[in-house]
Amino acid sequence: MHVHLFSVKAKLRRLAFPLALLTAAAVGSEDARQLVARHVPWALTAECALAVFATVEVAVRELLLRLCGETHRCRIDGCRFRIRLTCPNAVQSRRWQEIAAAHPTHRLHHH
Ligand SMILES: [Zn+2]
Repeated sequence: MHVHLFSVKAKLRRLAFPLALLTAAAVGSEDARQLVARHVPWALTAECALAVFATVEVAVRELLLRLCGETHRCRIDGCRFRIRLTCPNAVQSRRWQEIAAAHPTHRLHHH
């Protein structure tokens, strides 16, 4: 069970970026196709398709961040420094964890 879960996570990690891109491209081009069918000018169509592409890309990325994202926080009291990673592998995760623990300027909250 543990091994199975790990392989799913590894797959998600590898697919994260192309998946976000493909979904965004698919939704964006479908949107463009409908606009062209309604005789909307090309420049406007391209603009709309790009806007949809960007929106979907951000949404998919946000979803992936929730599924397999990691947040590393500084452990110093009162420091609000944190790093958000989208589906990192073990090496990346460890490296960013170390960076988060030893970042140079702590964002301390002065009262
Ligand atoms: Zn800090």
